[in-house]
Amino acid sequence: MKPTSKRHDTVIIGAGAAGLCAAITAAREGLQPLLLEQNREAGKKIRVSGNGKCNIGNALIQANRFHSQNPDFIHETLQGFGRSRIEAFFLSIGLPLDEKEDGKLFPLSYEASSVVALLVDEALRCGVKIRYGCRISRLEHHNGTFLLHTAKETITASKLLIASGSVAAPKLGGNDSGYIFAQRMGHTLIPRHPALVQLVTEETWVKQCAGVKMNGVAKLYVNGTYTGEKRGDILFTHYGISGLAILDLSREVSLHLYAFDYCELQLDLMPHFSKEKLTNLLMANIRTNSDRELELWLRGILPKKLATTIIMHASCKSKKERELNRKEINKIVHTIKHLRLSITQTRGFEYAEVATGGIDTTEVDPQTMASKLLSDLYFAGEILDVDGDRGGFNFHFAWVSGIRAGQALAK
Ligand SMILES: Cc1cc2nc3c(=O)[nH]c(=O)nc-3n(C[C@H](O)[C@H](O)[C@H](O)COP(=O)(O)OP(=O)(O)OC[C@H]3O[C@@H](n4cnc5c(N)ncnc54)[C@H](O)[C@@H]3O)c2cc1C
Repeated sequence: MKPTSKRHDTVIIGAGAAGLCAAITAAREGLQPLLLEQNREAGKKIRVSGNGKCNIGNALIQANRFHSQNPDFIHETLQGFGRSRIEAFFLSIGLPLDEKEDGKLFPLSYEASSVVALLVDEALRCGVKIRYGCRISRLEHHNGTFLLHTAKETITASKLLIASGSVAAPKLGGNDSGYIFAQRMGHTLIPRHPALVQLVTEETWVKQCAGVKMNGVAKLYVNGTYTGEKRGDILFTHYGISGLAILDLSREVSLHLYAFDYCELQLDLMPHFSKEKLTNLLMANIRTNSDRELELWLRGILPKKLATTIIMHASCKSKKERELNRKEINKIVHTIKHLRLSITQTRGFEYAEVATGGIDTTEVDPQTMASKLLSDLYFAGEILDVDGDRGGFNFHFAWVSGIRAGQALAK
């Protein structure tokens, strides 16, 4: 028989972004929440975020940067919780923010580890009790009491906040336990898919270009129909394609692949050059350097590995520029501006930064994050069916929902 703890007033599962924020908020209002974390440390995802710099939020908060099957929930949750509210919270724990391009907010230290250090320090100072290495494996609810089972004991609580995150990035603690607990408490799950994730291609030639990074435009075609495009880094890898432009498209690709749609990317490797400008450049070069190898000319405008790929794709037999006919010139230019890649799958939750889907937000109060199905049960963060664009929006939602839940727990 496992020992059962004395009944705690408030227990929070997950010392990640949302859980820490909720715990601090509740403790500042006079509660002494118990924060349970399966890892040996808090905020593992925060520590690695933004390439170690932590893109903590965004100054340009708009509801359309967040995704959910219930957009009304996002609108209501964000009310009164824009940049200034989040900035004030972080200032209150001693962490001023700095704004970069596209409104991206970072801690002034530009060190993700400082975010965790200050959040944990503030939590402890306010009286939050944190227990590490404490994985909740099962949840029950009897007669108004939550029973949280670990391998060694049963922890009991009057009020429970589940902030256990999503299934994305399992090496950092991502898992589906929170979803299972929520389902057990009667909640509905919206299907989850990897997002902000690299893509695997059918074409294996990408391997030869592995490591090449371009600033280009990636256009997405679903079953042959153009659905949108993103501009930014495009990185070729041994499995397929990555880079910021690709991560930004990956959410849509992920959902379409799940629906068995055919997803193709067309890459414009030289978006600053129109077709005409590029053709004129090549023609002018032919006039002045007609003896030059075609590949050498391409190396003047593209990385070597891509130059070889373009010749292969344009199936260009001519070796010298002067041997090129008009059709071949057009084909080369077309290939540079429309390099096609068929996407077979994403790299999955293992490599995804976030998961789409989660707990159906029609069953959660957008002001308090309280369950509408079971009293004294709350949710915050990525476990909910809300995910954001790259650029600090995911953390923004974690902080906002954490603060709201913390305030509600204390009422
Ligand atoms: C590599 C990477 C980089 C990212 N960079 C950014 C970025 O720069 N900007 C941005 O906005 N977003 C970024 N994100 C997304 C962001 O990290 C998440 O959206 C955010 O952390 C979600 O917060 P959360 O509190 O809901 O979940 P988490 O931060 O994942 O916290 C959940 C916590 O619960 C714990 N837990 C889970 N199950 C249990 C259990 N059964 N018992 C006990 N504890 C449990 C976990 O160990 C974890 O510590 C990044 C994500 C990754 C993976």
